[in-house]
Amino acid sequence: MAKKQKDVVCGMDVNESSKFKSEHNKQKYYFCSESCKKEFDSKPKKYAH
Ligand SMILES: [Zn+2]
Repeated sequence: MAKKQKDVVCGMDVNESSKFKSEHNKQKYYFCSESCKKEFDSKPKKYAH
């Protein structure tokens, strides 16, 4: 069963099987859409905890 992850950009729950993901400080982040991923990639420090 895929674990649920939080899309830190928009706050939605996202499955780990999402194809939109990034890595920052060795932590993986999952996104609901390409636009959320791009937003995170442009300002990772704003969203990474
Ligand atoms: Zn999103």
